[in-house]
Amino acid sequence: MIPSVLPTYSRAPLSFVKGEGSWLIEQDGRRFLDLGAGIAVNALGHAHPALVAALTEQAGQLWHTSNLYEIPQQQELADRLVALSFADTVFFTNSGTEACELAVKMARKYFYDKGQPDRTEIITFSGSFHGRSSAGIAAAGSEKMTKGFGPLLPGFKHIEFGDMEALGAAITDTTAAIMIEPVQGEGGIRPVPDADLKQMRALCETHGPLLIFDEVQCGVGRTGKMFAHEWAGVTPDIMMVAKGIGGGFPLGAVLATENAASGMTAGTHGSTYGGNPLGCAVGNAVVNIIGTDAFLDDVNRKAGLMRQKLEGLVASHPDVFESVRGSGLMLGLKCKATNSDVVSAGYRHEVITVPAADNVIRLLPPLNITDEDIAEAVSRLDQAASSLAAS
Ligand SMILES: *Cc1c(COP(=O)(O)O)cnc(C)c1O
Repeated sequence: MIPSVLPTYSRAPLSFVKGEGSWLIEQDGRRFLDLGAGIAVNALGHAHPALVAALTEQAGQLWHTSNLYEIPQQQELADRLVALSFADTVFFTNSGTEACELAVKMARKYFYDKGQPDRTEIITFSGSFHGRSSAGIAAAGSEKMTKGFGPLLPGFKHIEFGDMEALGAAITDTTAAIMIEPVQGEGGIRPVPDADLKQMRALCETHGPLLIFDEVQCGVGRTGKMFAHEWAGVTPDIMMVAKGIGGGFPLGAVLATENAASGMTAGTHGSTYGGNPLGCAVGNAVVNIIGTDAFLDDVNRKAGLMRQKLEGLVASHPDVFESVRGSGLMLGLKCKATNSDVVSAGYRHEVITVPAADNVIRLLPPLNITDEDIAEAVSRLDQAASSLAAS
């Protein structure tokens, strides 16, 4: 008999009833150090007092009105994101994949309005992940996500990750955009070299397509900059964010330049919930904290500390781990053992990590994790690795 919850996930036998900072707690009191943060979502950990206050204060005032009316919290968050980024304008969504939908629509509408209606193709990369909507799975293109769900949304061309020569050859006068995660998340914590991002920007300048960065996982402070592409010193035309920006409340956004967004006039797109007062009240609280130099400096300091400890871990367990990779607090351990076995061993030692493709485990802790919790987490990973080696 089918379970009452549609069985699209194979879930770990863990069930949490409370969160405190970087800790998740089960009913029986077992405490787990959370290096998954709900897949890079709980950017400020669990039950952060400023977020709890923002949510509960707004909950007592007004939850939802719809985008038929002005929403001051939405206006405030849009102004703040514009001030913190390359963008001139923002549309709010409830998730990352909805942001993908709009990014694709925006790029196509841009060229339609410029008198190039055939310029519709979006170039994407192997190992990428853009969500589970029809545009998202067509964009990623992997058989794992698309098999059985055809006909797929047309107009996507897939290039091998890292193959800049193939990218150059793939751009034609029907290319509307290049869409890429500056650091692949689901694909196994694979950062795109700065030089490649720069070259993509240059290719777009030369040949005309728009550049779309999917920062749903790597954005909002995760890499130690507000947005990951800042490390490369280039800006996109359109950017998707979600995950961390809501700190656990479902919130996403598309940020764009005035030029790239020029086709999106009244009536061309919408969302009933997107940017509602509750979500934006929390989003403002998150961005107020993360979007400061002092906070981001501390993320970078902690990232250095964590990376150093992880290098030690890899050196101590050469049979379990191969290497550390990633950027900021978006870290991956490339495994020699099977990554899901390493994640399970972590559960037994009460530390939570998230598997990714390419036999990697992801470490995506709350950005405000303490130094003590970093040390404790790596010590638990060390015990987990020892238990694997012994078995
Ligand atoms: C998680 C993710 C998405 C999809 O976000 P949802 O909120 O699950 O729809 C899209 N792109 C990237 C890079 C992601 O990590």
